[in-house]
Amino acid sequence: MERVIKRNPNEPEFHQAVLEVLESIEPVVEKRPELIENGILERIVEPERIIKFRVPWIDDSGKVQVNRGFRIQFNSAIGPYKGGLRFHPSVYEGIIKFLGFEQIFKNSLTGLPIGGGKGGSDFDPKGKSDREVMHFCQSFMTELCKHIGADTDVPAGDIGVGGREIGYMYGQYKRLRNEFTGVLTGKGIPYGGSLARTEATGYGLCYFTEEMLNYKGYSFKDKTVVISGSGNVAIYACQKATELGAKVVTMSDSNGYVYDAEGIDLDVVKQLKEVERKRISEYVKFRPNAVYTEGSKNIWDTKCDIALPCATQNEIDEESAKKLIANGCIAVSEGANMPCTLEATELFIQNGLLFGPAKAANAGGVATSALEMCQNSIRYSWTFEEVDAKLKNIMVNIFANISKAAKEYGREDNFVAGANIAGFLKVADAMLAQGVV
Ligand code: NDP
Repeated sequence: MERVIKRNPNEPEFHQAVLEVLESIEPVVEKRPELIENGILERIVEPERIIKFRVPWIDDSGKVQVNRGFRIQFNSAIGPYKGGLRFHPSVYEGIIKFLGFEQIFKNSLTGLPIGGGKGGSDFDPKGKSDREVMHFCQSFMTELCKHIGADTDVPAGDIGVGGREIGYMYGQYKRLRNEFTGVLTGKGIPYGGSLARTEATGYGLCYFTEEMLNYKGYSFKDKTVVISGSGNVAIYACQKATELGAKVVTMSDSNGYVYDAEGIDLDVVKQLKEVERKRISEYVKFRPNAVYTEGSKNIWDTKCDIALPCATQNEIDEESAKKLIANGCIAVSEGANMPCTLEATELFIQNGLLFGPAKAANAGGVATSALEMCQNSIRYSWTFEEVDAKLKNIMVNIFANISKAAKEYGREDNFVAGANIAGFLKVADAMLAQGVV
């Protein structure tokens, strides 16, 4: 850990992600000294390749703008690099590194042959015209296309990158390379996208959480759920949790949150967020009984049975965790990547809450992306029901595997440890088999 901090200074999110994994796998390396002898730990925390580039583009007023682009190809031991692209002003190398590192273990847990990678830019799509977003995406892809490929590295969406951005990037890739291949996932249905990919992360989160709840005799039925965020993951988590019989009472964005005691009206959220790209504060215009609160931190003061953080990293700190526990919350499942701080996670586990870590709970998105790659390779499309059934099966298996691994290594019911151990073992064994590379 000291070495990681020294070699990657000023990257706290990356340190946090590495520390959690290293702590969890202690019992594994104790049992298997060959992992140490072969430098698996030193190698797994070092990205195979970091690509960093200038992204120049011209805004609507004719002014030249410059952003920074990143792609971190972290680990290809079990398959081509796979992981999303994030466009958000907070993006810097440390954020992409933490996300890429997490992605290695998440992808391993899906049971599919995909390695770990992540990328993005400090570009902020918010408030930009469609034309500006297109110009940016084309410039970004003009450089990125030199480093990716259907059998090399297959990016997808993440915060700030949805169907619109993937479309613009795919168009530019195809034009530059003259190839119609599955080089990106999350594509539109008419040009190689998979049915159920849009819904997959949120649906998968709920399939996983339902499995975890069932394990202790609970279910979503008649439970009150707090969801943060109102983007891709949050919207489809809300849809599936509601279908499973729960009442979702909150949603948020980076400005604030809405509380709707009667249950969130998802049609209103979809219209505001997916169609009009407006702020969540506008929700109360359509649902006058709902309440809007400026600032999203206090969302965790809302009394609930289940919390699904689906916005961004470190949105639940120690203080918010204490409030959730005091209010009788029984389960927290991470839709976003690393939304709980290490201290918050520790508190949930110590207090006996069911805690679903992101690399297991939100793996449905990348799993369905891998199913999209599969359909592109065989030049065929499965129905929504076929993809959804495969997704559900994957999430059920992930829960079974991580709870088994936790038990096997003396950490029963600690799904953080279980996910890290199960995810790590497969990658470590592949690295061992492939020699020092
Ligand atoms: P979107 O861009 O669709 O939505 C993100 C949501 O989170 C928005 O409501 C956004 O509000 C809010 N948000 C973002 N940053 C902040 C912040 N700093 N503070 C408060 N709220 C914030 O992204 P996704 O739904 O795709 O991603 C959400 C999370 O899920 C991320 O952590 C992502 O890494 C993770 N994830 C996504 C997957 C996918 O398939 N899309 C797969 C696995 C994980 P605002 O509009 O105001 O910025």
